[in-house]
Amino acid sequence: MLLYGSLAKTGIGHGTDMAVQLGLSGDDPVTFDVHNIHAKLADIAGMKKIVLAGLHEVDFDPREDIEFLFSETLPWHPNALTFAVELQHGDAVAETYYSVGGGFVVKENEEAGKGQAPQFPFPINTADDLLHWCIKTGLSIHDVVLENENAWRPEQQTREQLLSIWKIMKECVYRGCHAEGVLPGGLSVRRRAAGLNKKLIKDQSYTDFESWITVIKNGGTDFKYILDWVSCFALAVNEENASFGRVVTAPTNGAAGVIPAVLLYYVVFNDGNTDDKVIRFLLTASEIGSIFKKGATISAAMGGCQAEIGVSSSMAAAALTEAMSGTQRQALMAAEIAMEHHLGMTCDPIGGLVQVPCIERNTMGAIKAITASQLALQSMPDYAKVSLDGVIKTMWDTALDMNSKYKETADGGLAVNVPLSLPEC
Ligand code: SF4
Repeated sequence: MLLYGSLAKTGIGHGTDMAVQLGLSGDDPVTFDVHNIHAKLADIAGMKKIVLAGLHEVDFDPREDIEFLFSETLPWHPNALTFAVELQHGDAVAETYYSVGGGFVVKENEEAGKGQAPQFPFPINTADDLLHWCIKTGLSIHDVVLENENAWRPEQQTREQLLSIWKIMKECVYRGCHAEGVLPGGLSVRRRAAGLNKKLIKDQSYTDFESWITVIKNGGTDFKYILDWVSCFALAVNEENASFGRVVTAPTNGAAGVIPAVLLYYVVFNDGNTDDKVIRFLLTASEIGSIFKKGATISAAMGGCQAEIGVSSSMAAAALTEAMSGTQRQALMAAEIAMEHHLGMTCDPIGGLVQVPCIERNTMGAIKAITASQLALQSMPDYAKVSLDGVIKTMWDTALDMNSKYKETADGGLAVNVPLSLPEC
């Protein structure tokens, strides 16, 4: 197995070698017990065998058979890997795949999703398309998105899947707020969410997520108190991500804390605690992410951190604005503001680990989303100078001009200016 470009340069820190082995084994990232990750990998390494898709055992020694090609990048996308296999009768087969962001994988010479999409009632490629359908139908953004989702599957199924995403987000935040210690990887980064949770909760007791939320709610609405909680929620998710816990990719794992933090801000401090409200929030957020994916990128290897934290902040800003009774145009304005102030943000993870600056950066993305939303709610979109499509184009132009050192390679920025020597760097 050959890892190229960003997948090689940040591969060990990002756990790419681990993820690929679990993927080859046929383990499902949604259902696999994450507590078993290390035991499973130890088995593969010990036996020098892997059971492909849980069915076919083949020789495989991770030390020999995973190659990090640090100085090679394939032209189509910097996140590339090739599976090369030698068959029993001597023939060799190789196939190349690209990880293009948000968990999407494209096989070489095949377009993503080609031939699979149904006929949508409201085709959307840009923010202008989305606004067009909202104006034409009078529907809110989340209703337009739901109508399109209905072309894929029955509405009830979409609702159930969104609530299962919300369940995983809640479990992740709760776990992260109750896990102490030092993150793996060698940077000795201490987990902070649990300590902050204790400080804010004081001596109040709770037994589960719902009673915990009630206790948080009862703590009041002081600005600093709310700010601390939003940071705490975001820290919790990304500390879980950094320790191989289960997170919801939104739109990537490195930026997975922004949307849960802003959604919990809505749920806890703004009366958003109903299934319907959460579903609407996620529908709107997902459409904004999709427009970024079509018009620019959600891959830091292509666009730097503006494509991760910037996009997650933009998604959350739009969703929060609609949730707080903003108009569709105010929601799009909020998405624009959130991205406008992430433009040019580089990706420079120290040691290739998704820890510094990544974990704190999620707190910043969440707070910017809330500020962007509030700003849009207090503004007249008619007077806005920059459109969401305009900022998406600008983000893409910036991505194209960005030096590759700042695109998930750990070759620039903090990754080279912070004097740490890690074996895997
Ligand atoms: S710096 Fe940003 S884009 Fe890069 S790994 Fe960290 S969160 Fe992801």
